Amino acid sequence: MKFKKILIRLLILAGVVVLTCGVLYAIYVRPFIREMMVMKTIHYDNQLTIVTGGGGNSGILASDSLVLVVDTKMDEGATAFYDTVRQIAGIKPVIVVNTHIHGDHSKGNKLYKNSTIIAGAKYDKAQWLSENGEGTLPTQWVTDSLVLKVGDETVTILNLGFSAHTQSDVLVYLQNRQVLFTGDVVLNKAAPAMFKRYLSSSKGYLAAFDTMEHRFNVKTVVPGHGAVGGRELIDDYRTFFEDMYVASVDGDKKPQLLTKYNTWKQIPFMMSPDATVSYIKREKKK
Ligand SMILES: [Zn+2]
Repeated sequence: MKFKKILIRLLILAGVVVLTCGVLYAIYVRPFIREMMVMKTIHYDNQLTIVTGGGGNSGILASDSLVLVVDTKMDEGATAFYDTVRQIAGIKPVIVVNTHIHGDHSKGNKLYKNSTIIAGAKYDKAQWLSENGEGTLPTQWVTDSLVLKVGDETVTILNLGFSAHTQSDVLVYLQNRQVLFTGDVVLNKAAPAMFKRYLSSSKGYLAAFDTMEHRFNVKTVVPGHGAVGGRELIDDYRTFFEDMYVASVDGDKKPQLLTKYNTWKQIPFMMSPDATVSYIKREKKK
């Protein structure tokens, strides 16, 4: 009899958990993904095209002899983006750079069958395949940095060398244009997604902002998600992390600091100022 009671309570509890997750998914996650998939093409100049959405933000830099692609998006976004790449590239070889391991940036790799695909070197191959699927594995792993000439543009592909959003984030900088692709180390008005299994590090984010500002002369920032902006996007993200550090030690200031980011995109418990504060607290306990 006692066992039956425990079983009923456990079933009710499981029902409540499933229902709560379902409600959270319907209210927050689904609209978030739907918005993330909306694509917009920016013809930056004759050689550079930036395509936001469809997963993570991407770039296509064309020259007479080759085409460089930054991030390949996911699902139907990846297919639509690949069509644009093919239109621009024709028969020219395509080199792909992935800013990081996550599927919204790298799942589309499978469409680039004969291309060189470049990513940060500190990823585990099995983790890459489980995140992105078969046929998505990079062919070149960058441990430090790589400089490519694409037409008259000089492109620096820099592996941060420490964990920030993930264990091997890569920045892509177009020197003449002063354009920086940050991957998800910088988002435009959206809280970061931080995961232990990808070794996300709040200190790493702050160090990455230093690298961006000291190493490059940035005019335009293409964030991992959200609209393209100026270098203030880096400053905004730095301020966010500094605020969350204060919120993690000062309970009185915390509510006001969280409210400051109410207009930013977020998903409760996953991608939110409060989730960032909790992550920072867990990092400190280690
Ligand atoms: Zn992303």
